[in-house]
Amino acid sequence: MPTDLEKLVELQAVDLELARLNAQLAAIPKTIAHIDAKLASARKRVEDARASIKAADTAKRQHEQEIQSLNEKILKFRGQSSSIKNNEQYKALLSEIAHAEGEITRYEEKILEVMMTSDSLQAQLAAAEAALKAETVEVDRLKQETEKAGASDRVAATKAQARSQSLRKGVDETLLATYDRILKSRGYAVAEVVDHRCTACQFMLRPQVLSNVRAALEVIHCDSCGRLLYYLPEHNVKTSAINVTGIAHQAEREWMFVPSMGTAGAFVVFINHKGNATMKAYDATTGEAIARRVEKNAICQTIFASEIRDARNLFVDEANLEDKYKEQLPPEVLDDLRHQLPKG
Ligand SMILES: [Zn+2]
Repeated sequence: MPTDLEKLVELQAVDLELARLNAQLAAIPKTIAHIDAKLASARKRVEDARASIKAADTAKRQHEQEIQSLNEKILKFRGQSSSIKNNEQYKALLSEIAHAEGEITRYEEKILEVMMTSDSLQAQLAAAEAALKAETVEVDRLKQETEKAGASDRVAATKAQARSQSLRKGVDETLLATYDRILKSRGYAVAEVVDHRCTACQFMLRPQVLSNVRAALEVIHCDSCGRLLYYLPEHNVKTSAINVTGIAHQAEREWMFVPSMGTAGAFVVFINHKGNATMKAYDATTGEAIARRVEKNAICQTIFASEIRDARNLFVDEANLEDKYKEQLPPEVLDDLRHQLPKG
């Protein structure tokens, strides 16, 4: 049976995933609106091009009407020529006609300009329409993609919700309330301890706190950020000093309790040193040295993986305990190690 803390670690993973999914789902309308806005601007470019063409047509028609009325005016002037009495009047009439003809030329030039503008507007319209067509296809694709992602998010969210609820049922209510409170205020509530530090706030734990977290007999809060702390032995076998060739330059040692060895488990030290992996085990009940293996060109994490998998980290202050007590661990050392194991 997993402990409450282990359940909380899983619950947190589920709750964070659920929050992520819900945030994604909540963002869908905004995404759709954003996609639609792209289409709206493409559509506006088409409408603008059409409106400009329409304005040009209107201008052209107005100019044509002006020309028509000027032609009528000229005809009228010519009709008046029979009633002319003198040279002065004749000159005035000719001047009126010349002026009207000048106006006609001006309007014809304007029409030519409008027609040239019209040609470039037609090209703009064709380009805008093609862009709108492509944009429509793209928008449809994006919308479908968004909706598809939304549908799969909804399924995942429903599953996560159900999993969260079922995990919550198995956890102590007070602890669950604490978890929810920290989760709400701090983003996440459960933090792993790696290399003596709370991984959430990087606070270095006091040895006693670290030892309590390792023993996992009660729920321990980080002194700095208040999160609930947990510890995984497999993340705490040091690997930092291993270089690219996989060989550690400095001796790294880690004491662990391995339940599968000895009469009722064994206290085992794993040492990576100068490319060699050493495992030395003492029976947890008698303290007697029961096994010693040295593997050349190996590291403990790999070569002793099966022993380490079920192991629990121990806190040992003294550096070379295994050299000092080659055959037998003394009672006070045994007592100290046994105290770090969960009762029962
Ligand atoms: Zn912390």
